[in-house]
This record gives sequence, structure tokens and C-alpha cells, in this order.
Amino acid sequence: MVDTQLRDRDISDSRVLDAMARVPRELFLPAELRARAYEDAALSIGEGQTMSQPYMVARICAELALHGGEHVLDVGTGSGYQAAVLAELAAEVDTIERIPALAGRARASLVEAGYERVRVHVGDGTRGLPDGAPFDGIAVAAAARGVPPALYDQLKPRGRLVIPVGKRRVQHLQVVIRSAEGPAVARSVPCRFVPLVGDGGFG
Ligand code: SAH
Repeated sequence: MVDTQLRDRDISDSRVLDAMARVPRELFLPAELRARAYEDAALSIGEGQTMSQPYMVARICAELALHGGEHVLDVGTGSGYQAAVLAELAAEVDTIERIPALAGRARASLVEAGYERVRVHVGDGTRGLPDGAPFDGIAVAAAARGVPPALYDQLKPRGRLVIPVGKRRVQHLQVVIRSAEGPAVARSVPCRFVPLVGDGGFG
């Protein structure tokens, strides 16, 4: 997976490649899907949601440009896999999911895989996590129409927010850096995520 799906494409950050090699992706899937864990695809995790494709997880992590000491918020816990990869790359990870059943399963998978220090919250991630803010980085794994203002507000100066922005069926990953002059926005790769529900999202 790391060689063919990540390195041979355009992921060159060695910390991200190492983190993706270390996290056991199969532990974040229901038993009947574990054999497919390393496919180049998003996989169903129930409740109409998916575990993101490995390339998109790596791309989001690379765009956050983490060095190891950061505090990161992961919006849209889903399976918990992205949160585990972030835990390999940053010092502190909070993750928030709106569907309680998914949050519960993700919490159990994170413990099983050895990431018990990741904090899993249930709630509306479009509002961020005011009690944990400010963050060095915020990763959003669900498609938005625009950047939820609360997420930008909860970034530290020079903090980075990575979020798929666009239409319901196709988006571009956007990288938003907080700066004194206002948000600096760069457009990254095209992508397709499940919808973010709430402010700035769909529905
Ligand atoms: N990062 C996940 C991908 C999950 S898909 C993984 O690695 O498996 C996106 C998730 O975002 C879904 O579980 C969905 O329920 C959740 N979601 C959508 N809108 C949300 C919101 N407003 N707050 C929190 N979670 C949300």
C-alpha cells in the first residue's frame, strides 16, 4: 500500500509514509471487510459512512505538515483510522464524530490498536471543539460547501485546516492557513468524500 498507492503517487513526507506503514488499518474495519483493508479504495463502515481511501488519509496528513509536537483536531472520526495515523504524527489528537455508534466502535478500535491517548468525542464537528482549542491542525474527512467559520477560528496562528470543499459529489481538498492577513487558501487534489452534516456542510 505504502509503495504503490502513496510513494509512487506523490506522497513524499517520510513521517507520513512511516505512520501509514505502522497503523494496522484492518483493526478499524468490521471483521468481514478486514481482508480488503489495504485496497486502493474507501470502504464501508456502516451507518452510510466510509473509511477514507489510504491515499486521501496520507494526503490530508501531508498537507497538515506535522512535525510531532502538535495538537490536532480530526473532524469525522468514522472508523478512527485517520485519528490513529494522526496520533503517529502529532503529540495530541482529539477526534469528533456525530454518530454515537461509530464513535463507540472507533474508540474500541483505537484502544485495540494501541492509541488509547486519542480522545474521541461525540458531537457536531462543524462547531469544532471549543474546550480543546486552539489547534495547530484540523483535518476534516467529510465534504463541505465552504469552510465552517468555527473551525478557522479554532486554529492557532499559522495553524492549518485541511477540508474537502466543493459540491456534494466532487470536491477539492483545500488547505487553509490562519494568518494575520486572514485565511491563506491553497487548492490541493480533487476528491470525493461523504457529506459533512451541519454548518458549511450538506443537510
Ligand atoms: N476519518 C474517517 C473517515 C470517516 S467518513 C476514517 O478514517 O474512517 C466521515 C465521517 O464524518 C462520517 O463518519 C460522518 O458521520 C462524520 N461526520 C459528518 N458530519 C459530521 C459533523 N458535523 N460532525 C462530526 N462528524 C461528522
